[in-house]
Amino acid sequence: MHLNHEKSEALFERAKAVIPGGVNSPVRAFKSVGINPIFIERGEGPYIYDVDGNRYIDLICSWGPLILGHSHPALLDGIEKIFQKGTSYGVPSHLEVTMAEMIAEAYPAAERVRMVNSGTEATMSAIRVARGYTGRQKILKFEGCYHGHSDALLVKSGSGTLTYGVPTSPGVPADTVKDTLVGIYNDVEMLESLFAAQGSEIACAIVEVVAGNMGVVPATEAFMAALRRLSTAYGVVLIFDEVITGFRLAYGGASEIYRIDPDMVCFGKIIGGGLPVGAYAGKSDIMAMVSPVGPVYQAGTLSGNPLAMHMGIQTLQYLKAHPELYLQLEEKASYLASEMAAFIETNELPVTFTRFHSMPCLFFAKGPFKCYDDVKNCDTEAYATYFRKMLDKGVLLPPAQFEGLFLSISHDDSVLETYLNASKSTLLEMYK
Ligand code: PMP
Repeated sequence: MHLNHEKSEALFERAKAVIPGGVNSPVRAFKSVGINPIFIERGEGPYIYDVDGNRYIDLICSWGPLILGHSHPALLDGIEKIFQKGTSYGVPSHLEVTMAEMIAEAYPAAERVRMVNSGTEATMSAIRVARGYTGRQKILKFEGCYHGHSDALLVKSGSGTLTYGVPTSPGVPADTVKDTLVGIYNDVEMLESLFAAQGSEIACAIVEVVAGNMGVVPATEAFMAALRRLSTAYGVVLIFDEVITGFRLAYGGASEIYRIDPDMVCFGKIIGGGLPVGAYAGKSDIMAMVSPVGPVYQAGTLSGNPLAMHMGIQTLQYLKAHPELYLQLEEKASYLASEMAAFIETNELPVTFTRFHSMPCLFFAKGPFKCYDDVKNCDTEAYATYFRKMLDKGVLLPPAQFEGLFLSISHDDSVLETYLNASKSTLLEMYK
């Protein structure tokens, strides 16, 4: 490494003594890219600055929330006033109503909305509600999709094509995941036979419509159509996990792009504008199960927190008032994809640049990528080398292969050019 990371290194040493692995979320340890993490001092627009004063183009963007970039004026507007009025009440505030109305307006499936504090809480709660609503135990998820770290969802597939889950992590009781079925993403035949055999025992199917946790892998229209059709036929609650895609792919998210309404939908990230937030929502008869209307318990001391609501509302209002931003994000991703694809082809490089709408990803393998099996053989060592070289050139990428790049509206042409130049020269250094 050429950049000086002295202060980051010192902080990491201190951090390790008091925080497990020195970080509050595992991917931040940079373990799979073989270096120690950088510690951040501040962010501004498309840039992030570490404590040693190095500036990087930020392509993590807090893993999705920062669709407007760091410290966008629209977000800061009014935040002090909110602060002065108190930071949490524990009884309702008008901001929660506005937020729920905005989500309900954008997502037809979101007839009732409940705020929580993270994406994990959103999916965990949605599943509880779906189980309560159907009176069924089994849930269906798909291999390679991530829905947060609640026990029932922290599951990998066993062997075979369609399998019962086995815990991904010690500490998750096998009993907790025995009712979690793990299906293969984009496999319509598997869906048909699974629903025929067990459809009437399944409470819900949860899916990332565009998977953003195995690189970027979109569901095919045929897969989503089959999932919607079969869920309806068997009385299975279809849950879209739009924690990443919500308000990112379009204002109406993946639901809008695929023109499919789920029965429930989960949010996080963008709807908090960078503050801790999540939400789950659904058709009114399903959401009528939620306490205090119904018997399914779910609660939260800080749920609907005024600061988080303010940041979320400001973000959504800005996006709503500027629909052209989605087109611009799409154009940015499309430009990156066409430039990179041409470069990769000309130089016969063993990598694939993909994108779905504004979600791009560079796989260190040759596609196509339709499911977890297709992506799992990517050359993660090569990705680690690429990551380190890019960091040295002032570009902060997700420190793991199986993540997409997160663009914001602040990534302007010059930022994109810098990324492209750095990326191309790095790939040439690695393969030529
Ligand atoms: N669902 C998806 C699709 C996610 O990408 C994530 C986190 N990246 C989650 C759920 C969990 O959200 P959180 O980290 O806020 O708990």
